[in-house]
Amino acid sequence: MRIQPLLAAIRRERVHHGEEVEMTRRSTQSRVATPAPDGSVTGEVPGSTLWPRPTTPPTSARALYRLHRLLEPNRGYARLARWLEAHPRAYRAFTRTEEKVKGHTFNCQMCGQCALPATGYACPMSCPKQLRNGPCGGVSAEGMCEVYPEEPCVWVVAYERAEQEGREADLTLLQRPIDHRQWGRSSWVNYWQGRDDRLWTEDDGRTSSPRVRAADETA
Ligand code: SF4
Repeated sequence: MRIQPLLAAIRRERVHHGEEVEMTRRSTQSRVATPAPDGSVTGEVPGSTLWPRPTTPPTSARALYRLHRLLEPNRGYARLARWLEAHPRAYRAFTRTEEKVKGHTFNCQMCGQCALPATGYACPMSCPKQLRNGPCGGVSAEGMCEVYPEEPCVWVVAYERAEQEGREADLTLLQRPIDHRQWGRSSWVNYWQGRDDRLWTEDDGRTSSPRVRAADETA
């Protein structure tokens, strides 16, 4: 068998694979590098890895639920948010600070529409598949991630953290699809501007959905 054609085919395959990886990397970065209101780019995937890595926050859920109370929208925060949006340099600095703080704590990907209060303060966007409504079918019986088997599934982490605080019902809320134009923007500013009000449904949808009857009920 002649080896040259085989080597050429392998080379072509490698180049093709490299192009695919590069395209994925670029699309991941362009997705998070959404322009701020003045058109400048601020967002970056922390660590610029290809896929987000499920992350267990180092801070307890209890502390974060308490901290959240301090950040709840009020007139002062609304005024600050409006001012930041009117001053692009300050907005950029503020967004970078948010990215650093939340990136370190939650592996925040800067989706701009924060789900943390409804997920036990485990970021669903740190799931490699970025699933906002529960785990995929690949989670192992031990609760480990399919993509990073050495890490616990972020939804397992979310459930455990919410359960510790009696908030597991939060996880039955349906997260609506996010607005992809918000990638890289400040979720705090969005929150204070009242843009997060419809991020998730008020109930789990079961009351309005057709109920699936159990086999013994249909008999
Ligand atoms: S839900 Fe979005 S804004 Fe909130 S921590 Fe995760 S990526 Fe960041």
